[in-house]
Amino acid sequence: MMVRIRLSLNYIMIPCNTSPHVIRQIALEHVPSWQFAEVSQVSWSKQFNRGGLWYPPYKENLARIEMGWEENGDVMWHEFFHSVYHYSPMNKSPNNWWSESFCNAFSEVNRQCFYKRRYTIEEADCCKDDKHLRTYIIPCIIILHHIEFDATRFKEFWISINELAKNDSTFDVSNILGYSPSDGSFKYHKTGLASL
Ligand SMILES: [Zn+2]
Repeated sequence: MMVRIRLSLNYIMIPCNTSPHVIRQIALEHVPSWQFAEVSQVSWSKQFNRGGLWYPPYKENLARIEMGWEENGDVMWHEFFHSVYHYSPMNKSPNNWWSESFCNAFSEVNRQCFYKRRYTIEEADCCKDDKHLRTYIIPCIIILHHIEFDATRFKEFWISINELAKNDSTFDVSNILGYSPSDGSFKYHKTGLASL
C-alpha cells in the first residue's frame, strides 16, 4: 500500500539549479509501492563545509537533510534518494550495502553530470580498504554503466530490482551487477567488467 504524507515542507532555499521541491517530485517517481520517508527540512549546516547528511525519521520526527555550507545543492539529489531507499525492499541486507551508490547514481543520471574519474578493474580491486570508494564511487560507476547513464533506465532498473527483493528474500543485486560493496569483491571474472 502506498502511503504518502501531506505536509507543508519547510525548505530553506539554497543556491542550486534545481529546487528541493522538484528533486522531491522526481524522487517520488522512484517509490511505486512503498512509503517515501518524507523530508521535513533541507538546510545548510554551520558545522561542516562539505558533503551532506540525511537524518532518518525518528519517532514523530520526519527525515531531514543538512548540507555543508560550501555545497551548491547538488548533494541534495543524493540525500533525497535516501528517502526513497529507506522504506524500499532494497533496504535490507545484503542490498542495503548499495544505498550510497544508488543515491549517487540517482544524482548523477538526473543531473547528467558524472563523476569524472574512471577506475580500471585493477585499481578498483586494490582499493577495497577505502570505504568511500568501495561503497560510494566504484558501485556507482558500475550502476551507471549498467543503465547506460540514462535516467529512465535507472528508474526502470531500480523499480525492477525492488520487485525482485520484495518477492525473494535471498535476492542480492550484487549478483546482477557483479560487485559487492560490502567487501569490494568482483563476482565475475575481471574481464566481465571491462567497462568500469
Ligand atoms: Zn548518503
